[in-house]
Amino acid sequence: MAEEAMSICAVCNKAADEGKKLSHCARCKDRLYCGKNCQSADWATHKRVCKRQNYLLKIHLCPDDITNPQVFRTLSCPADATFEDFHQALQIAFGWATTHTYDFKIKDPVAEAARAAEAAEEANMTPEQSMLQIMESLRTTGMPATGVPNLLRIVEDDPRGPGGFMGGKGIDFMHNGHRQHPRTPEKKSSKVKLLNVLEKPAYKYKPFEYEYDFGDCWEHAITLEGRKEGTDFFMCVDGEGHYVAEDAASWRGWNKLKSAYRAQRPDKEQMENMRWFERVASNRDPQGLKNGRERVWAKGMINRRLADLAGKALSFT
Ligand SMILES: [Zn+2]
Ligand SMILES: [Zn+2]
Repeated sequence: MAEEAMSICAVCNKAADEGKKLSHCARCKDRLYCGKNCQSADWATHKRVCKRQNYLLKIHLCPDDITNPQVFRTLSCPADATFEDFHQALQIAFGWATTHTYDFKIKDPVAEAARAAEAAEEANMTPEQSMLQIMESLRTTGMPATGVPNLLRIVEDDPRGPGGFMGGKGIDFMHNGHRQHPRTPEKKSSKVKLLNVLEKPAYKYKPFEYEYDFGDCWEHAITLEGRKEGTDFFMCVDGEGHYVAEDAASWRGWNKLKSAYRAQRPDKEQMENMRWFERVASNRDPQGLKNGRERVWAKGMINRRLADLAGKALSFT
């Protein structure tokens, strides 16, 4: 059996059944050793090929609101890629046109639950009581009570983009304030690696989100599904659903556009909507979504573009 043949120490060839259990190289999980001595002896040569395992991340766009088909991609991601690299890979995997800014949020389930409880309480307040609460919150935190702190927020190095405040991302920048919170630490995306979040006990199993475009608010829920062999590039391994139209006016607009394509006799507004997606949208698709194309997505093309991305000497290569 092949598996048995592999169950020997990579250095001294001692087999697993001779009293002691063999252990894997903790980093790549690819090599077996009988103990510390053999591992240390091997490290001088093994370190040249030893690669930290990739993270297998499932990224799901507006999971509650975009269904039939849902839109998700599963990516194998290098552990030492930065969040800026990850953003670029997500733009490719989801067919976005990179005209807006973004952030990543590691959510705080305790703060989220407390906020939900507050909201339930506020629903029963008199206008005077709720005004008092807003004043108190402004006095103590400098923020209205509506904001929920995150464990960490990772932002684009310059959310205004090359165009400055009035450039292409001016609108996004105006909405940036709502995403900040005095208790949420912020870091720049080019300075944080995936492993800085995914290996850190305080963040590791917390809900985790990528938001693109602060006007349309495209929220992507991210879940760690497992580990994969280490690579220098991102790879798309699974997915579902045609990419979504940029500037469609949130998931509501996307759902409207899908209804237009399903209509037996589309009305004037629906005709205009379809024309906009095929000819005007920044990630337009000249073929539209007819004949089941709402389920079509191009895994091969995504992987070719992800390979090109790695070729551009990203910070992790
Ligand atoms: Zn050994
Ligand atoms: Zn190793």
